[in-house]
Amino acid sequence: MMRPGCTLGILGGGQLGRMMAMAAAELGLRTHIYAPERDSPAFDVAAEHTVAAYEDEAALVRFAKAVDVVTYEFENVPGATAAILSAHAPLAPNAHALSVSQDRLSEKTFVSGLGIPTAPFAAVSDEAELAAALERIGRPAVLKTRRFGYDGKGQAMIRPETDPAAAFAAIGRAPAILEGFVPFEREVSVVAARTAAGAFAAYDLCANEHRHHILATTRVPAGVSQRTEEEAFAIARSIAEALDYVGVLAVELFLVTDGAKERLVVNEIAPRVHNSGHWTLGGATTSQFEQHVRAVCGWPLGATARLGRVEMQNLIGDDVEAWERLLAEPGAHLQLYGKAEARPGRKMGHVTRIFPEGE
Ligand code: AMP
Repeated sequence: MMRPGCTLGILGGGQLGRMMAMAAAELGLRTHIYAPERDSPAFDVAAEHTVAAYEDEAALVRFAKAVDVVTYEFENVPGATAAILSAHAPLAPNAHALSVSQDRLSEKTFVSGLGIPTAPFAAVSDEAELAAALERIGRPAVLKTRRFGYDGKGQAMIRPETDPAAAFAAIGRAPAILEGFVPFEREVSVVAARTAAGAFAAYDLCANEHRHHILATTRVPAGVSQRTEEEAFAIARSIAEALDYVGVLAVELFLVTDGAKERLVVNEIAPRVHNSGHWTLGGATTSQFEQHVRAVCGWPLGATARLGRVEMQNLIGDDVEAWERLLAEPGAHLQLYGKAEARPGRKMGHVTRIFPEGE
């Protein structure tokens, strides 16, 4: 049983690990961050850190033995790394959740196997398979690498006029998945948590706007019907249960509308705390970071109640230069990630604004 004073091990040293470590500290836990980059933002707020590669077996074993439970802030943890860690410490979420969600083909196969709608999809490993997949799925379609895609990287749209070979070349001819284009009205996500004992709690559905393929703004409520919101919770719950999931997960969905009729289509599962859940830090009774810590420790989940109408805006690249103005803005909750250099496209911080409901 994890108790205050125990040590939480976190794989990955970015802003998610940093905010998780801060939430852990508030509950009397120590954190040990493992990351390959010397200047990892999470190191600043953790009791211990290890700088080593994710393939460094000896360092991984030392790390796992030094902590009471291991969690992670990114889904591309190599399978071998997860296996080494879980031989020496409990790993939450489990290795199966990682392997399902880090490959778009296994992810979509898993989700549709649960009877949950996804875009039509097909595996593509060469031009012949791409031609057959296009024949079946039609155009427009989206060609994506099976692995290591994020923020729109490793993706190519195939429009009526697109040369399929050029699209395949654009994603480096890597093993891929072809997906039918979903004519969505809005992108929404559900952030939820599950414990080993089976307790489940979801935050209100949020609506996400992207700029240059990177999340720019999250708004809650998402402005969907109660029925759609409940369906999103049911989808997240059935995914979490099927994975025997422990921790916070996010499910990204497309909202498709046909007149007043709403329909949800799953795009992706993130087996971790998620950018679209940052609004919970200040905007909900329990933040997603605290919720994740509670879940992986086997502690009771916190209340997910929303404290008003909430908007979260990412500060990307130069946006962060507004920090002084944002500090002066009454009611704006500013969170900066402690990154030295504001490169274009880099997430530097976020600001959350909470308004009275209905305003
Ligand atoms: P992903 O990396 O899968 O999250 O995709 C990045 C973005 O591309 C999504 O947030 C959507 O805006 C868009 N996109 C991805 N897949 C599809 C699809 N099948 N249909 C329509 N838009 C998509």
